[in-house]
Amino acid sequence: MLKKSFFGLVIPQFEYERLPAILPEAEKVAASKTISLFHEKNSDQNPPTSIQIGDEVNTGQKISLFADDPTYVIASASGTVSAISPHTADFGKTYAAITIDIAETETFDDQFKTHTQSPTLENALEYLASAPGCPPLQTLADSEKPIKAIVISGVDSDLLTGTRQYITSTQLNDIKDGIQILKNITDIDRFILVTGRDTIQGYGHIGADVKSIDTTYPAALPPMIMKNVLGEIIPAGKTCEEMGVCFMSAEAVASIGRAYTGGQLPVHKILTLITKDGNQRLIETTIGTPIKDILSAYGVVINEEDRIVFGGPMTGSAVYSLDQPVLPDTDAILVLDRAQAAYSSDYPCINCGDCVRTCPAQIAVNMLVRFLEAGQYEEAADNYDLNSCIDCGLCSYVCVSKIPIFQYIRLAKYELDRAKTAEATDV
Ligand code: SF4
Ligand code: SF4
Repeated sequence: MLKKSFFGLVIPQFEYERLPAILPEAEKVAASKTISLFHEKNSDQNPPTSIQIGDEVNTGQKISLFADDPTYVIASASGTVSAISPHTADFGKTYAAITIDIAETETFDDQFKTHTQSPTLENALEYLASAPGCPPLQTLADSEKPIKAIVISGVDSDLLTGTRQYITSTQLNDIKDGIQILKNITDIDRFILVTGRDTIQGYGHIGADVKSIDTTYPAALPPMIMKNVLGEIIPAGKTCEEMGVCFMSAEAVASIGRAYTGGQLPVHKILTLITKDGNQRLIETTIGTPIKDILSAYGVVINEEDRIVFGGPMTGSAVYSLDQPVLPDTDAILVLDRAQAAYSSDYPCINCGDCVRTCPAQIAVNMLVRFLEAGQYEEAADNYDLNSCIDCGLCSYVCVSKIPIFQYIRLAKYELDRAKTAEATDV
């Protein structure tokens, strides 16, 4: 178990978490009765036709809502579907929440096993898109944006979180297998494993260049790695993928390796739990486990106005229900006491300039925020460098007026992206 102070460790220095060289095994936390899986909803059609309440499912079974639906989730436990209900996530994105009552005996689905002898990008896409770490396989399959290099993140991009470091230290053979499989199923031959500066020893055999990065936030964010490790600056409005670089977490690569070598789809997620008392624990739980089960395993009581964040303190998102399940990309759960939680306010900007001085992208954030508050997203992008923002959240952290700048930025980018997609679809 990791035990470290929340306040003393990180926030004042903005230093990334550093795990000790020898790590205890992640603590296992089981779901008590049910798991829930969020299935992307691409149709208003209701109810789903391919899965229904009362259906029995096996661990590793692929579940789609409709017969012609290309999206799917993988059942992370065996049991009976007991509910299918709508769920609205950040920015109004809609999902179907599929609840499964866990059976006493676990039975494994063996459909994927037939592909383990002949890995292809197609069968990886067909089964591994919602594996732990969410391998971005769709990005690798996009012929319009060919990928020439894969960067494997062996360091966590947010503070207080040790998940990727733990996986890099403890699942190196799976990562090595995953790299080999990715080399076989794509034309990509450049792989770079990014680690913390003091953990660079011992990775020479894995089939990737090993590069270290600085230990100060936000050095582990993709745009910073592009600049400091690959020597490429992303032009405003472009993405890493458009530059031919795909970022993949160490866990995603390990999931690919384990799935093909072991013959079973991995369904357990490693994550860092940071509780109100500042304790950090690395835990392993089934994807879909409700957070209330995890909190109850450690006796964490949630009081009114306490806050639960999925992700780290700089870039995570608040969740509002104790039934919220662990998702394939949940690297951290942060529980804040109401006294620790930074609340936003409706105070106006006092033009102190702290956000401008802190911004690693040198954006005039004090100006940008005026357009974001007014919902003038195109002006924000055209005239105030919205698209140069690297999504670090430092501006929100330092803002004395507690303006939720980062939330405005995320919303603006989401809306602009949506408009761009709609435009492309209309053409
Ligand atoms: S989140 Fe804020 S501080 Fe970070 S790059 Fe964007 S504007 Fe700058
Ligand atoms: S830190 Fe906040 S108050 Fe200060 S200039 Fe930036 S937006 Fe305005």
